[in-house]
Amino acid sequence: MCYAIPGKVEKIEKNMVIVDYFGEKRKALNELSQISVGDYIYAQGGFVVSKISALEAESILAVWKETFFQLQEVDLRLSRLNLGDRNADKSLLEILDRASQSKELSRAELLYLLELKDQAKLELFFKTANFLRQKYHKNSCCVHGIIEISNYCIRGCLYCGISNHNKELQRYRMTKDEILQAAQEAVQVYGFKSLVLQSGEDPGYSIDELADIIKEIKNKFPTLIFISFGEIGIDGLEKLYQAGARGLLMRFESSNPKIYEDVHLGQSLESRLMHLKEAYKIGYLIITGGLIGIPGQSKEDILNDIFLAKELHAEMFSFGPFIPHPHTPFAAIMPAQHPPVRASAQVEEVVKVLAIARIIDHTQAKILVTTALETLSREAAKSGLLAGANSLMLNVTPLAYRPFYAIYPNRAHQSEDINVQIESTVSLLRSLGRAPTDLEVIL
Ligand code: SAM
Repeated sequence: MCYAIPGKVEKIEKNMVIVDYFGEKRKALNELSQISVGDYIYAQGGFVVSKISALEAESILAVWKETFFQLQEVDLRLSRLNLGDRNADKSLLEILDRASQSKELSRAELLYLLELKDQAKLELFFKTANFLRQKYHKNSCCVHGIIEISNYCIRGCLYCGISNHNKELQRYRMTKDEILQAAQEAVQVYGFKSLVLQSGEDPGYSIDELADIIKEIKNKFPTLIFISFGEIGIDGLEKLYQAGARGLLMRFESSNPKIYEDVHLGQSLESRLMHLKEAYKIGYLIITGGLIGIPGQSKEDILNDIFLAKELHAEMFSFGPFIPHPHTPFAAIMPAQHPPVRASAQVEEVVKVLAIARIIDHTQAKILVTTALETLSREAAKSGLLAGANSLMLNVTPLAYRPFYAIYPNRAHQSEDINVQIESTVSLLRSLGRAPTDLEVIL
């Protein structure tokens, strides 16, 4: 199983390579030595990940060739936009027409879209976001693997099932060998080219130990590595970058300092943002975003969240629903503050956020369908991918540990073998005409 298509190096300009995919040209940053014009490579997140022999590449490309063009046709068909419906609301059509031409929308217009409830209007809004996704990102969809290496956490986030409030949770910390074995399987057996290593904020691993693990994964199983260990300090970020990590997954959760500080006891939004800004300066690709539906959050807050993700140079937006967990302090206050919301209404709220994110950052950002969104409904991934999203994350944590990374209950794919996740992902992507290439398209 392969989650990226090999490309042929056409041109090398300093540390940039131009890669050809069946005639489509894309750019990637090269940190590997010994890459020459004519070589075949795998690339992820804008980085060359590994070189591959011509023999192997040509046999993979032969399988892909026909499919590649068929997928493009399916995607084009599904992302066609018709804003010519005379019966539709004129002011909505006018806003979406400008959005489809990549013109900037005002805050009031974005808030209007975020407030939409009418299904016909929502459909047009989501189609506009999907049109923009296709226009700027073609049919590429990136699929990262995530390994949740530990559920120990020293933080007391009021909503999170693995925070230190939860005394009922069985804790685990994978050993270095277990992490290496999970990475090896993900890369060598299942073909992932990009891995996220995630944990609670767990001082049980020193930065040097994490650096060692990252170095060894990079050396043995070439892959693009994202880290997601919480606030590890600037020194920690630098050391892990030196070790080979190239991405940081860290949500700011909420751009509203009052909400942030109310739900993250003893922590500050300033410190979280400082980590994100410094990581970007160091050179990390940034995946960030927030939680949708935290008590007290307004539509304005959500819009600010999307703008903040853009301001932080998110190469990928990660916005997902807040899902209450019974063993958290929030469980006690949620029923009183929040009457239960239907899952379908929650899905709709999150999909609106994905669509707004695509409108705000149509050219650059990848937009993730989160596991939390999939947890609300099995159809949600498809809805997100048809409303501007173009990224997925599959869980490659060993099955024995997965149920204990219980940030919220009944997580999607919690006990699903990776083969099953891959099969259903590939079939979903195929049905939507998406291909697993993952590089900036040269238009
Ligand atoms: N320690 C790392 C950090 O601080 O970013 C990563 C682990 S943290 C558990 C991963 C993400 O889980 C958080 O960014 C948060 O948005 C999400 N999360 C935690 N509890 C959640 C809940 N009840 N519903 C939805 N998402 C939740």
